[in-house]
Amino acid sequence: MENVIIIGSGCAGLTAAIYCARANLNPLVIEGKLPGGQITTTSEVENFPGFPEGINGFDLTWKMRQQAEKFGTRFHGATINAVTVADDGSKRLVCAEGETLEAKALIIATGASPRLLGIPGEKEMYGGKGVSTCATCDGAFYRGKTVAVLGGGDSACEEAHFLTRFAEKVYLVHRRDELRASQIMRERVLNCEKIEPVWNAVAEAVLPDAEGKVRALAVKDVKTGAPRELAVQGVFYAIGHHPSTEAFATLLPRDELGYFKTLTDSQVRTEVPGVFVAGDCADTNYRQAITAAAMGCQAAIEVERWLV
Ligand code: NAP
Repeated sequence: MENVIIIGSGCAGLTAAIYCARANLNPLVIEGKLPGGQITTTSEVENFPGFPEGINGFDLTWKMRQQAEKFGTRFHGATINAVTVADDGSKRLVCAEGETLEAKALIIATGASPRLLGIPGEKEMYGGKGVSTCATCDGAFYRGKTVAVLGGGDSACEEAHFLTRFAEKVYLVHRRDELRASQIMRERVLNCEKIEPVWNAVAEAVLPDAEGKVRALAVKDVKTGAPRELAVQGVFYAIGHHPSTEAFATLLPRDELGYFKTLTDSQVRTEVPGVFVAGDCADTNYRQAITAAAMGCQAAIEVERWLV
């Protein structure tokens, strides 16, 4: 029986681990499919306090992981399929790998995963054939090529700007004529001559070449209905994320978008005693690395109080 299991190893999970470990709770972190979480796919983090020069997303979580380990956190690679609560209040975690784990308290910090559109060609060319959700991971394959980025938020702008390091040209395809992104990101993108915004446009299909790789993106003007084909070799999705909460659907209440609901007086306490949530899986509002870390801290302190 573990004192506390933390599911997820992004900013929220790792911060929770640092606090739980320093409270002598000997936490176990379940790392999941993307150790380090979403931020590891970000090129440069410029707004995490303490790093005036900016820091690579991977390096940031690596430092958090080392800090958690230093105080005794243990890490385990597994995917949790379901959690049930036994009569004595202990939590039983069933892993996809067939293993069962038990803990007195649980912090769920499973984050969110990139949203797709469900348009033709998207699935077929995802991962290696030109459709990607991670410019940091795949950008270098597009040296001298033309790519499209979908979305108008901070992620889309960041990805578009990052891709100009490699690509000859970057189309930024947005469904409105105004970017949602913060002012600094908007200016960076709109002042970059390699980036061409395609306003009021929605993607309708990713079109393959003879080898099954991306050759174009079919878009439609939402105002006029006019179709257009953008000749691109890569399409990068940056249209937001959906929370990774499905495995806990019977354990905890979720809102209509799938985010965990917490008690009205807390960001991290849930209606199940001893089960706490932290980070993007429970945050529809801020979704920042620093706010995820803050929720991880709150969840750890709640666990400490709950276990006494
Ligand atoms: P976001 O802010 O939710 O933006 C998603 C973008 O995708 C929006 O422009 C949205 O269009 C568009 N979109 C959503 N669904 C779509 C659909 N079905 N078809 C076409 N377009 C669609 O997501 P995000 O950019 O991933 O950012 C998430 C959070 O992380 C934000 O709080 C952001 O500030 C933060 N973030 C910060 C940084 C940084 O500071 N370095 C970097 C990345 C992200 P509409 O605008 O029309 O809704």
